Amino acid sequence: MHTVIIENGFDEWREQARKLLTSRVPPEEILWEREAGLFSDEPPLPPAQGETPTVPKEFLKLAHTVAHHASPSKWALLYLVLWRLTHGGERHLLKMASDLDLVKLAEMRKAIQRDIHKMHAFVRFQKVGEDAETGREQFVSWFEPDHEIMPLTAGFFRKRFTGMDWSIFTPTGSASWDGKEVRLGPGVERMDAPGDDELENLWRSYYKSIFNPARIKVKAMQAEMPKKYWKNLPEADLIEELIAEGKDRVSSMMEVEERPARLLNNAYLNRLGDLTAAQENPQTFREQMACCRNCPLWENATGTVLPEGPENARIMVIGEQPGDQEDLTGRPFVGPAGKLLDRFLAQAGIDRKQVYLTNAVKHFKFKRQGKLRLHQNPSVGEMKACRPWVMSEILRVQPKVIITLGATAAKSIIDPAFKITQQRGLIDRPDLAPKVVATVHPSYLLRSDIPGEEERFLADLMLAR
Ligand code: SF4
Repeated sequence: MHTVIIENGFDEWREQARKLLTSRVPPEEILWEREAGLFSDEPPLPPAQGETPTVPKEFLKLAHTVAHHASPSKWALLYLVLWRLTHGGERHLLKMASDLDLVKLAEMRKAIQRDIHKMHAFVRFQKVGEDAETGREQFVSWFEPDHEIMPLTAGFFRKRFTGMDWSIFTPTGSASWDGKEVRLGPGVERMDAPGDDELENLWRSYYKSIFNPARIKVKAMQAEMPKKYWKNLPEADLIEELIAEGKDRVSSMMEVEERPARLLNNAYLNRLGDLTAAQENPQTFREQMACCRNCPLWENATGTVLPEGPENARIMVIGEQPGDQEDLTGRPFVGPAGKLLDRFLAQAGIDRKQVYLTNAVKHFKFKRQGKLRLHQNPSVGEMKACRPWVMSEILRVQPKVIITLGATAAKSIIDPAFKITQQRGLIDRPDLAPKVVATVHPSYLLRSDIPGEEERFLADLMLAR
């Protein structure tokens, strides 16, 4: 029996498999392990017998993906299929979709693809500072995929967030982008976290010492970072705090609040095929929303900004769409307009934590201007595409009061011809909620210098309260 240790993924497996194939070692004589055991006296491989057999490209592609599956059985299964293809006289095995070994590989590939999709949708960055030399903003994120997919997803995040420095940490791999190249590293573990201020300071010094391209040796960093390196650095705790916060965010996004399913009778919901089924299961509902592709806005945004707040809230606030900060953090109303809203809600005696906060359009629409991402109004088509989500939220939460902020929200749920300047205030729409109050968006207050606008906004919120 030969024990083969695979610690570094596909390339290492491929190299080992090539030697084993050339020496004609059959699958049943190999034990595939992740790390060396106590007894490492292995019998030498038999001498090579002839040329290394050629392998179909299609299999290599499949094997490259499956190599990122979490199951340790993947190496043995891949070698078994490889053996059958090359020495088993089954050259056309890959065409036999019903073959049990191929079915298992196909399931593994599917699980990985699903995991990649979720990672694209759920990773959220937290801003931790700016590089003093380059002025580039620095972000960090923690994510726990089911499989070892960091190398398969790094390219997506590089393309999507090319203008900022970022690092993504997972238990099985990490990736960092500094505007020039993506560096992959090993996974990290969660640890107890320090306080916020400490965290930011430590992160900055960590970032400077590790990620500044002028000061690092890539290979050394990949070999050392982060497990061996971090545990000897005070900065390590900094990362863990960010990690912990990121995890909480992901958890809250996936949070499930069990509540009875409601019967749906809204024609809008039926337009999105599986939304009715999703509505009956809160977790599925949020996951479906997170993966929505019902209009093109998802393509450039970081991800769906999911609603926040109790599902039995008495007040529902519906904004227009997420802004830059909301898009990056994955939380509604956390940017400048959100902070202003917080201030006025507090002044009106409304506790933000008791309010269900959502948007008429769930993805950030913007155009790039240099490093900036400038807000753009959603089109009528985009509002319509997203309307089933917000209508189904109203059906789920059944608030006593709905507050719409800005023209888009009012047009989306009250009336496409709604004019905020003329119709603002209490609106008679008992089919939506017992009370509906339409008012301006707080971002309007940030831009407006018309006297009395803030007082009018506060009065609208007090009316809602
Ligand atoms: S904006 Fe709305 S409809 Fe469009 S992709 Fe996002 S969630 Fe779906």
